[in-house]
Amino acid sequence: MTKNSEISAIKTNPVPGVKSYHFESFNLLVITDGDVEYDNGCFAPGIPPAELKQLRENHNNLTAHFMLPHNIMVFTSPDKTIMIDAGNGDKARPGAGKLAGNLYAAGIKPADLTDIILTHAHPDHFSGLISHSGQLVFPNAKIHLHQKEFDFWQDDHADFSKSKSLLSSLQSLQQEIQFFFTQISGKLQLFNTDEPLFDFLQPILTPGHTPGHCMFTIISGNEKFIHMADIFHDEIVLFAKPEWGTVFDIDFDLAARTRQSILKEFATSKQRVFGYHLPWPGFGHIEKHNDAFTWVVE
Ligand SMILES: [Zn+2]
Repeated sequence: MTKNSEISAIKTNPVPGVKSYHFESFNLLVITDGDVEYDNGCFAPGIPPAELKQLRENHNNLTAHFMLPHNIMVFTSPDKTIMIDAGNGDKARPGAGKLAGNLYAAGIKPADLTDIILTHAHPDHFSGLISHSGQLVFPNAKIHLHQKEFDFWQDDHADFSKSKSLLSSLQSLQQEIQFFFTQISGKLQLFNTDEPLFDFLQPILTPGHTPGHCMFTIISGNEKFIHMADIFHDEIVLFAKPEWGTVFDIDFDLAARTRQSILKEFATSKQRVFGYHLPWPGFGHIEKHNDAFTWVVE
C-alpha cells in the first residue's frame, strides 16, 4: 500500500473487536485480544518518572498507566488461514483473552487455523495457543518461530546481562517459555529470514526486544505493509524517545538502535505499518517533525 491509498477496499466490521479488509491475495482480519494495563515502571527504565509523565502529558495522554492493545492479524485464503501471534489466552489479565471469542464471532473456528507465526516468544504473544488445561487451542496449526528466538530461550546460559529487567524475572520467564516450547513441540517449525514463509509474507529479523524478534513484510499485488510486532509498545514515548526503551527488551541498547533505524527508514518511506501494541486496529505511518518522530493513525 502506498501512503495515499486506502487500506484495500471493502472494510466491514462484523463485530466490535474485528476489522476486515479485502486484498487481492487474501482477506485480512485484524482481531483484538483486548487491552492490558501495565505499570509505568515497565517503561523508560532509569528515566525520572516525572520526565516520563511530562512527555505523555505533552502529548495529551493523561492516563495514569500504559494500556497495551493486542492486535492480531489473520489472513484467510482458499487453502490457508494464517495468524500472526495469539494473544494472552485464558490465563490473561483483566481486559485481554478476547481472541478466541472474537475469532468465533468472525466465523473462524480453532480447527480452521493452518499456520500461526510468532513474532517472538513472549507470553502476551503465545499464551493464546494453549488452553487452561494445557491443550493446543488450534489443533491443526503449524507454529512458526525464528530459529534464533528458539535457540536463545532454550539456552540455559542465555545472556540476560543487557536487559534492564530483574534477573529473577527473566529466569522465571525463561522457564515459562521453555515449558511452552515443550507444549508445542509437535507443531513447531523453525525458520530463518532467508526465504518468505508464504508467498505474500516475508520475515525481517529485528533483534533487540528479543534476539529472534521478527517484523513481517506483507505483499498483495502492488500493495505492501509491514507488521512491526513489538518494535513499539506505545504510540507516544517510544516514538519521541526511542532510546528510553522498556524493561521487556532483552538487549536494551540493541532494541533502541533497531527502533531508531526503523523510525528513520519508515519516516522517510512513509511506509504503511502495523503495530501489535499500537492503538487499535494498529495501522498507521511514522512522521518526523522538528527532529521528533510521531505515530500517525491511519
Ligand atoms: Zn508484546
